[in-house]
Amino acid sequence: MTEQVPFIDLHAQLARIRGPLEERLAAIFEHCRFIMGPEIAEMEASLAEHAGVSQVVSCSSGTDALLLPLMARGIGPGDAVFTTPFTFVATAEVISLTGATPVFVDIREDTFNIDPERLGEAIGRVLADGELRPAAVIPVDLFGLPADYAAIDSIAREHGLFVIEDAAQSFGARCQGRPAGSFGHVAATSFFPAKPLGCYGDGGAVFTDDGKLAERMRSIRVHGEGRDRYENVRIGVNARMDTIQAAVILEKLKIFPDEIARRQEVADHYQATLDGAVRVPRVPDGYQSSWACYSVLHDQRDALVAHLREHGVPTAIYYPIPLHQQQAYRDLGYAPGSLPVAESCAKRIFSLPIHAYLSEQHLEAVSEAVHSFPDGF
Ligand SMILES: *Cc1c(COP(=O)(O)O)cnc(C)c1O
Repeated sequence: MTEQVPFIDLHAQLARIRGPLEERLAAIFEHCRFIMGPEIAEMEASLAEHAGVSQVVSCSSGTDALLLPLMARGIGPGDAVFTTPFTFVATAEVISLTGATPVFVDIREDTFNIDPERLGEAIGRVLADGELRPAAVIPVDLFGLPADYAAIDSIAREHGLFVIEDAAQSFGARCQGRPAGSFGHVAATSFFPAKPLGCYGDGGAVFTDDGKLAERMRSIRVHGEGRDRYENVRIGVNARMDTIQAAVILEKLKIFPDEIARRQEVADHYQATLDGAVRVPRVPDGYQSSWACYSVLHDQRDALVAHLREHGVPTAIYYPIPLHQQQAYRDLGYAPGSLPVAESCAKRIFSLPIHAYLSEQHLEAVSEAVHSFPDGF
């Protein structure tokens, strides 16, 4: 029997923070301020420091962290919001929820992120069509690698687009020394337990240096409140994060830099042992990934994944169906082959285990399993 390599190990991580976390939880059980307790402000301040921004608005999920800035900006019917089809559905879903129209832009095969050249072309097509107004772009830092913000920002400036960084997977990453969460006009992250920085339930946060925007998002987070929640100055939602979840994030932030460094070691190991056997991910110069996922390409993906499973190596497929091919988006009318890079990656991609609690034996088991695949059939 081969021992199973854990795809993610929340038990090992919990063992490391358990003592101080239980003290924090005991303090919350003393004050009983379960909604917007003092731990929320403490966490927001700590996150602001990590992301290098002045304003952090915590909220109930990564999905809400994307929705709040769209609502605060007044994005709605008639607006085109450009994004990648190769992402978790939430990125596009929030666009549709506001009544705006998602416009999917193909990705680059080497980074899996939105292709700035294709973005320029897509804006041109929307302008030529004349039906929608180009309003915003949501680049996703897929698998933890920040998108190409230098190129995206210059296109966005030219067309007056609002830029929302979907940093749900990239908290802890950097580009030219700048932390993920500091790109665009505003950034959104998720604290879903499996993300690089996860809580013990749902949670998320929005990051910005725009104080006015942050103020609107804080209002929308609590039903569009004015001076208090019984004065409603705009339409909002209930999107607060629980105090208990903030305690988890506060304790996890203490070990987070160390965990990110360990994820990088795992990625380095995979790069050294797997390059050639699979198409390993490329991190462009000046970038550091948070390695939310270690995603590789292989032409016989399904056979290789089955082989790995037999050898105790779990895998996952992010994402098997690009969003423009999902039934939910059938009405947008994208023909097969319209976003060829995303469609091709969806057929060949899979993710290997990556987290801070993989042992050297686990890593060797992964590379042995990959190399024992009878390639070439
Ligand atoms: C996880 C994720 C989200 C949504 O986050 P939730 O906290 O699950 O709502 C949005 N975008 C991307 C790219 C994600 O990976």
